[in-house]
Amino acid sequence: MGQCQMRNERILIRCYTWNNESSDLFDYESINNEKQQFTIQNQDSYIISDKETLQLINEIPKENSEVILYITAKNTVVAGTQQQQGNSTALTNTKFPFKLKKNWLTVRSVNKYPLNVNDIFRLGKMTFRISSLSFTTQNEHEFSNRSKADSNEQCRICLGNAQSSNPLLNPCKCSGSLKYIHLECMKRWLKELTSSSRSSEKSETYLWKLLKCEICQEPYKVIFQSDGVTYHMLDLLKPRYPFVMLEFYSKKKETQVQQINLGDRFTSKSDGVIVISLGERMSLGRAKENWVKLCEASVSRFHATLQIEKVQQQDSLFLFDNNSKFGTLVQIKEDLQIYQELEIQVGKSLFKLQANNIIC
Ligand SMILES: [Zn+2]
Ligand SMILES: [Zn+2]
Repeated sequence: MGQCQMRNERILIRCYTWNNESSDLFDYESINNEKQQFTIQNQDSYIISDKETLQLINEIPKENSEVILYITAKNTVVAGTQQQQGNSTALTNTKFPFKLKKNWLTVRSVNKYPLNVNDIFRLGKMTFRISSLSFTTQNEHEFSNRSKADSNEQCRICLGNAQSSNPLLNPCKCSGSLKYIHLECMKRWLKELTSSSRSSEKSETYLWKLLKCEICQEPYKVIFQSDGVTYHMLDLLKPRYPFVMLEFYSKKKETQVQQINLGDRFTSKSDGVIVISLGERMSLGRAKENWVKLCEASVSRFHATLQIEKVQQQDSLFLFDNNSKFGTLVQIKEDLQIYQELEIQVGKSLFKLQANNIIC
């Protein structure tokens, strides 16, 4: 047998598009979507939108044109960025002059997806970003001995002094005898502030718009400084039990999902965070029987599941889709090799990519 040096595969691309102006949700229960087909083989291929239809081209698209899907000659889907043109990508390491739209992988096409911190996924219209993840129980406190507050200063809640494991913070504009609050008192108070019906023993939801000082009315910043020490509000919300913390963005465009910057107000970016107590299987959906109940109409009753599995003796968090109506999508951040079948959603188009080996 001769040796086959090149990956010699033919990729069949089936395209489904829909024209619902208000929504970029693909409805898996609907069969009325338009369909186009393309076949590509070992050459750079670009799918662009030309008026109402999709077009396949093999030459590099013109400057500033918007490419929906870019598949290289080596059969990789290039990760879209929707940032400035001229981005290079992990695998190809080449810059391109056009804009490439954000690509989303549908989880059902790969069975399951391993999640890491900073990964972004969508359930219906809700977008989530994993802001932290811990598989172990925490016992030490990382804030120990960091406060410089005078030992005579008192906490405005419990009137106690600073302790090494429980420093005094000044997160707002309050001054005088109201200036300081213990880290632990702040945490307890944040929980009381946000203890809506959406908290249970399995998850706690914090809504940002509620997070402001009720005395001086100053909205809390995500990252604040107190006596020269920088604190991250999300760190204060981290529990000691094993957890995954998800920032969520419900009615906003996916383009607004980004990392929180120094000094951001809670109201400006995400809608809040959900802290989920880790179990072996954690279901997410609209029904109240779920591990985490999500109050959003475009989320299916039992939409998706987070599951802990061992990979090389290490705990890993996997995302599964439960045949949800609008699918479970993960934003593609690195170029993706096409093996067998993949499903990619971009804007109002869904692409089913199927690789067929050619014997050489
Ligand atoms: Zn206190
Ligand atoms: Zn205040």
